[in-house]
Amino acid sequence: MTETKSLSDSIAVLSGVGPKREKALNNLGIFTIYDLLEYFPFRYDDLAAKIPSQTADGERVTFKGVVSSDPVLVRFGFKKARVTFNMLIEHENIKVAFFNQPWIQTQIEQGQEVGINGTYDANRQSLAAVKLIKADEDALAGIYPASKEVHAKTIHDLIEQAFGGYHQYIENLLPANLQEKYKLTDRLTMLHDMHFPETLEDAKAARRTAAFEEFFLFQMNLQLVKMADTKNHGRAIEFDNHAVQAFISTLPFELTNAQKKVVNEIAFDIKRPIHMNRLLQGDVGSGKTVVAAIIAYAAHTAGMQTAIMAPTEILAQQHAKGFGKFFEAFPDVRVELITGSTKVKARRQILDDLMNGEIDMIIGTHALIQDDIEFHNLGLAVIDEQHRFGVKQRATLREKGMNPDILAMTATPIPRTLAITAYGEMDVSIIDELPAGRKQIQTRWLKTDAFDQAVSFMKSQIDEGAQAYVVTPLIEESEALDVQNATAIYEDLALHFQPDIKVGLLHGRMKNDEKADVMAKFKANEFQVLVSTTVIEVGVDVPNATVMMILDADRFGLAQLHQLRGRVGRGDKQSYTLLLADPKTQYGKDRMDIMTKTNNGFVLAQKDLELRGQGDILGNKQSGMPDFRVGDPVADLKMLEIAQQEAIYIISDPDWESVQSNAALVQYLSNSLAKYRNLD
Ligand code: ADP
Ligand code: MG
Repeated sequence: MTETKSLSDSIAVLSGVGPKREKALNNLGIFTIYDLLEYFPFRYDDLAAKIPSQTADGERVTFKGVVSSDPVLVRFGFKKARVTFNMLIEHENIKVAFFNQPWIQTQIEQGQEVGINGTYDANRQSLAAVKLIKADEDALAGIYPASKEVHAKTIHDLIEQAFGGYHQYIENLLPANLQEKYKLTDRLTMLHDMHFPETLEDAKAARRTAAFEEFFLFQMNLQLVKMADTKNHGRAIEFDNHAVQAFISTLPFELTNAQKKVVNEIAFDIKRPIHMNRLLQGDVGSGKTVVAAIIAYAAHTAGMQTAIMAPTEILAQQHAKGFGKFFEAFPDVRVELITGSTKVKARRQILDDLMNGEIDMIIGTHALIQDDIEFHNLGLAVIDEQHRFGVKQRATLREKGMNPDILAMTATPIPRTLAITAYGEMDVSIIDELPAGRKQIQTRWLKTDAFDQAVSFMKSQIDEGAQAYVVTPLIEESEALDVQNATAIYEDLALHFQPDIKVGLLHGRMKNDEKADVMAKFKANEFQVLVSTTVIEVGVDVPNATVMMILDADRFGLAQLHQLRGRVGRGDKQSYTLLLADPKTQYGKDRMDIMTKTNNGFVLAQKDLELRGQGDILGNKQSGMPDFRVGDPVADLKMLEIAQQEAIYIISDPDWESVQSNAALVQYLSNSLAKYRNLD
C-alpha cells in the first residue's frame, strides 16, 4: 500500500512532535499540516546586518562583527545574570549586554565572528541583546505567536519541516482570474513568503494575497449561507397592493424617495415565497417607523399579524401611539401594546386576542417574547433598534411565528465594514435621505467652562418657542451616581430658569409610568428643558426640540452621540447640538472634532472604527465582527468590498464555473455548499 500524504494529515506525523507537543500545538489551534502552514508570523525581524552609526536610537537591529573583549558574566539578585562584552563592527566599537541568558558566556569568545540581534541605545553605544544569529540564518525572521509550551522557534522549525514535506500538495483556493486581476500570488508562493520571505516586499505581497484570500473565502461562505437561508421555507405574503397604496395616500406627508425605494424593496421581498432577513438602516429621523407601518399594513391585507419589538418601554409606547395615529381611519386594524407594566387582566385579554387573530399588530418590549405569548398567524416581525437585542432574543421572536419575515431596523448606522461582515447574511435597505425641509443640525464642541454660554444659547432658543435636551453622562457605570448627577444639574437649571421656563427630569431609576408622564409633558411643551440621563437615547420624537446639550460628551461613544443628536432636527427649525467636553487625548479630541464635521451617521460609524482601531473592535464581542487572521476589515475595507463583489458575482453564475473547476475551493466550501444544495 502506498502511503498517501495530504494537508489534512495530523501534525503528529512531523518529527519532533510527540503527544505532549501535539497537545501544546492543538492548544494553539494547530491540528493538521494545513493549520500549521496557515499559522502566520505576526511580524518579521529584520536580521540584515547594519552598522551602529547608521542605526537610530531604540531601533531593533542585527549587527555582525567580531567579539573584541572576553565576555564577563555577572550574577545579581535572584536568578538574574548579565553577560557583557565589546564588539567591533567595521571599526565601530559597541558594548553588548545579554540579560538572564548566562549560558551565552560559554558560546562566545574574544575574536569570534558573531551576529547579534537586539535593541540599540545610540547614546550609550550599547546593544541590549536578544539573540545570537547563526551564520546561515535568514535575513528576515518571522516571529510567531507562541505559548509557554511551544516556543516560537519550535513553531518556525516545524513549519519549515512541514513546508519541505508538503509543499507539493498546496493548491490554489483563489480562482485564477481573480489572482490575475488583482495581481496576487499563487497560494504556494503566498505560504512560502508568509513564512520565509526574502525581503519585506515579498512579505507584504504575501500578506496582501493572504488577506484577500481570507476575505474572499469568508464572503463565499457567507453568500452561500445567505442563499441557503433565502431558499428556506419562507411564506409569500400576498398583500393587496391597491389597499397598501390607499393606506400610503392617507399619510399626513409624502414619502421621501428613499422611503419609497425601501418600501418597494421590502414589499417585493415579503411577496416572494422565501424567508426575508432584512436590515433597514436609516439615520435618526429618516422615518423608519412609517415604513414599518406600511409593511405591517401590507401583511395585514394578507391576513397576517405583525409584531413590533422595541428595546425600551418609552419607545414601545411611542410606536403604539404613532401606529394608532397612522391607522386612525382604519377601524379594521387593531393595534395593541404589551409591556412589562401591562396589567395582568389586560395582558390576559391581549394574549387571547392575539391567539385568536383579533389583534393585527402588537407592539411591545421584551414582554413580546414571553413563553405564554402565541400568535394566530405571525407573518412579520419588526425589530426596532435591533442592535439593542441579542441574537437569542431575535431568534425567540422568530420562532414564535411560522418563521416570520424579519425586518430589523437600526438608527445606529452600521459602518460598511460591519455591514459586510457581522451583518453580511442580511439584506440591507438604506434610507439615505431625510424628509424634506429638515435643516442640517449644527454641532459645536465647547470646553466645559463654556457651560454658562451654552445655557444662554439654550435660553435664546427657548425664547423663540423651541425646547431643549440636556444629557448627563454615565458615571463609572454607577446608576446611583448618575441619577445624583442628573438631579443636581436639573436642580441648578430649574433654579436658573425659574419661573418662566420649566425644567423636567428623566432618569433610569424612575418608574415606567413616571418616565412616560415626564415624556408626555415634554412633548406637550409643559417643560421646555428636559434634563436626562441617556434613557432618551433611542427613538424619542419631539419635533419642537432644537437644542441637544450633552455634558461630558467625551464619555459617550460616537454612535451614541449621533443617536442623541438625532433627537433634535426633527422638525423644520434649525437645530443645534452642543458637546461640552475637555478630552485629554488626541484621540478624544479627534472624536469631538469629527462630530462637528459630519452629520452622516455612516461616515461617522466608519470613522469610529478607524479611530478605535481593529484591536478594540475585535475585543468587542458585541460588534459581532468575525476574527480575521491576516486581513484588517477596517484598514482593508476596500479589499473586503472587492472580495464581496467577486463572491456575489461567482455565486450568481448559474454554472458555478470558476468554483466547480477548482477542487480545492469546492472542498473548502463543502459545508456551505452542502447546506445550499440540500435545499434545492
Ligand atoms: P426614525 O427613522 O429615527 O425612527 P421616525 O420614524 O421616528 O424616524 O420619524 C421621524 C419623524 O419624521 C416622525 O415625526 C415622522 O412622523 C416624520 N416623518 C417620517 N417620514 C416623513 C416624511 N416622508 N415627511 C415628513 N415627515 C416624515
Ligand atoms: Mg425609530
